Amino acid sequence: MIKYFDNAATTKLDSEVLNEMLPYLTENYANPSSIYSVGKMAKEAITISRMKIAEAIGANVNEIYFTSCGSESDNLAIKGIAYANSRYGNHIITSNIEHPAVLNTCKSLEAMGFRVTYLKANSKGIIDVESVRRAITPKTILISIMFANNEIGTIQPIKEIAELARREHIYFHTDAVQAMGNIEVNVRDLKVSALSMSAHKFYGPKGVGVLYVREGVRFKRIQDGGHQEREKRSGTENVAGIVGTGKALEIAVRDLDENSRKMRTLRDYYIENISRLISNIRINGDLEKRLPGNSNICFIGMNGPKLLEELDKRGICASSGSACSAGLFIPSPVLLAIGVPKHIASSSLRITFGKSNTLEEVDYLIKSLVEIVQ
Ligand SMILES: *Cc1c(COP(=O)(O)O)cnc(C)c1O
Repeated sequence: MIKYFDNAATTKLDSEVLNEMLPYLTENYANPSSIYSVGKMAKEAITISRMKIAEAIGANVNEIYFTSCGSESDNLAIKGIAYANSRYGNHIITSNIEHPAVLNTCKSLEAMGFRVTYLKANSKGIIDVESVRRAITPKTILISIMFANNEIGTIQPIKEIAELARREHIYFHTDAVQAMGNIEVNVRDLKVSALSMSAHKFYGPKGVGVLYVREGVRFKRIQDGGHQEREKRSGTENVAGIVGTGKALEIAVRDLDENSRKMRTLRDYYIENISRLISNIRINGDLEKRLPGNSNICFIGMNGPKLLEELDKRGICASSGSACSAGLFIPSPVLLAIGVPKHIASSSLRITFGKSNTLEEVDYLIKSLVEIVQ
């Protein structure tokens, strides 16, 4: 049996969610734009899912847009707002620890003439609100700062940044893909302009993203086509996926307290034991402002990919946050961005706990790591 500790990469589809999806993958395959009854039923299923999502995050139903993934939601939010507001300014503020879906979107906007400030996170991986304030110019039209980081789990001061942005009449988008299902997210309370999510990060299906855009925010579609999603995102809807997403978020919000308590317990137990049993480690990120299921530790002197290979031999799935491109080993860009030296960053191990991990699995993980490091 596989021991899965890579819940920041993706999560297991919940069986309750699959059951809700199945009818739309089998007997009801109608196009929700069709006017006959089964088409209307498919459309109705989308509406119900939209209501569930709106309810879960404190939004109105007409503020929810379905996309194909978290990456698309980030693209649509950032490009959509940038294109629609370019006559008011061309400056965007983001951070240097964003997901590639945000970083590379900003890079491509730079190539089109937008100017982007990449704020530096501090050594714990937190963006200082004061640094956001200092970066604002009369040309700033958008701030995009992630809710929680996918590698080191740090939680950003989203409410404070949103308040600042509101006072300055600047739109504020947050990539909340890692936050959903792990911590509370309520747009009524946070007052952000736009927020991205991805279903497969909270036990929903892959290939469905959600974008919340507050009513009144000027944004432009980036994909041309039919009238779906109130003219903002063309393409025949992924009915089964959308149904699954609504159900998955409903469950995530219902079980949030229980799941986050459980993940935090396992995570703290893991860190405590690793700290006790293995010397020469470095714990990355902030210990308090952190997702309950995230741990990121450098095993100094070890080689990250080799560590993953050894864990894999023992049936353990984990991540190093690094990438191998064209045979070249590149340490985690997030760790480098917060100032971890290259030779230490290359020994990182990201263990992300999920709602179905058990204490026995964590004991097995600890035992395996001690064995490998020795
Ligand atoms: C996974 C992830 C994304 C991308 O979501 P996809 O649905 O895989 O495209 C974006 N941002 C963060 C923070 C993520 O963790």
